[in-house]
Amino acid sequence: MNKNKVYIETYGCQMNLADTEVIMGILNNNGYELTKEIESSDVVFLNTCSVRDNAEQRIHGRLGTIGVLKQNNPNLVIGILGCMAERLRNDLIEKEKVVDLIVGHDEYRKIPELIDIAFSGEKGIGVKLSRTETYEDIEPYREEGLSAWISVVRGCDKFCTYCVVPFTRGRERSSKIESIVDEVQRLSERGFREVTLLGQNVNSYSDGENDFADLLVACAKVDKNLRIRFTTSHPQDLSDKLLYVIAEYPNLCNYIHLPVQSGSDRVLEKMNRTYSIEHYLGIIERARKIIPGVTFSTDIISGFPTETEEEHKMTLDVMSKVRYDGAFMFKYSPREGTRAYKMEDDIPEEVKSRRLTEIIDQQQKIAYKINQGLIGTEDIVLVENFSKKSNQFYSGRTSTNKIVILPVAENVQIGDYVKVKIYKATSATLFGEFLKITDVYKKHKNVNVA
Ligand code: SF4
Repeated sequence: MNKNKVYIETYGCQMNLADTEVIMGILNNNGYELTKEIESSDVVFLNTCSVRDNAEQRIHGRLGTIGVLKQNNPNLVIGILGCMAERLRNDLIEKEKVVDLIVGHDEYRKIPELIDIAFSGEKGIGVKLSRTETYEDIEPYREEGLSAWISVVRGCDKFCTYCVVPFTRGRERSSKIESIVDEVQRLSERGFREVTLLGQNVNSYSDGENDFADLLVACAKVDKNLRIRFTTSHPQDLSDKLLYVIAEYPNLCNYIHLPVQSGSDRVLEKMNRTYSIEHYLGIIERARKIIPGVTFSTDIISGFPTETEEEHKMTLDVMSKVRYDGAFMFKYSPREGTRAYKMEDDIPEEVKSRRLTEIIDQQQKIAYKINQGLIGTEDIVLVENFSKKSNQFYSGRTSTNKIVILPVAENVQIGDYVKVKIYKATSATLFGEFLKITDVYKKHKNVNVA
């Protein structure tokens, strides 16, 4: 029986994308062939997300479609990986008869063995959480490209009351600094131009001797033309040492994703976010002093249990104080197993929706104004690809994570750093005029590149 071709679909966050590369690394080491064609595959994996209910509903829908493939190929093995595997475990096998394999985040090494079990006609299940698994010895399987992710912290110890992550990904643990730096080195040698260090809370990185700021310095020193990004930061753990390090190293990007979630201290306490708005605004103020031109994005939840109209306005108020460059904004969605699930979901759907609309409208206005203010300024852009709309234009990003569209110019190639002058802006995109290719990457806006 041919069991060699594996097809993987990935849903959810960047951590899942990074996990898929680790899983592909494990499969590749075990002689499996990776395919992009689901029809010709022998094993189909869905690497899933549980963060919101609609993410899970999407997977149930997708399983319905994929299950049809089994009619033509009864030996096809279908597996669920990631958060849904961990959260629903045996229930998923019970509910979704087409599923043969269930593998949680810390059992990916067992996938080859579990595939064999599934081919023998049994159901394969691996959902044990680990306190030590980091996969740092596994070389992720990556195609050539410009951008790569490395998971540096796995799991989360914060236990925000609305969040399933501590239950699906387990407790926090960090990879050793040497293994991360070696991986950055290999990516640099392969021509990658950007690496994002990932963790649910990267600021709590610790390998026993080094903290996250130490890790950033070590990564920044590998290759000055390799940009380093990171996500996600927790306001409780973001240190001034980290801010000074970002300011010091030009290839550490001037961009921080700092979820605020709510503008009300009372709601933050109910969410177990462990910081106050005063503390949060203090970080923003210090970061702006220490890192010229730094930009921020955030996550906001509207309609958390008991949120009053006044507290919703506090969220709008924080948004106008911080002036985020970007935001991920959602309605509260109760997740079974979390502490918030036991709270009454008492904000009516239409109120949640109206509050969310107000939050989105306000964010768009703020982002539009910020971006309008950038017209006439110059910045450095890493050319990442052709624009989605036309191959007469390139799309790239600034250190501050702004998307910039620029015309295709002679001698400019994907992967180059170019200096541009912004001539037009929407709330989501800047349009730049090409000025010159730069050898050395510099990050601050309006810098004069020699
Ligand atoms: S910090 Fe909070 S929201 Fe983020 S993963 Fe951990 S528990 Fe979830």
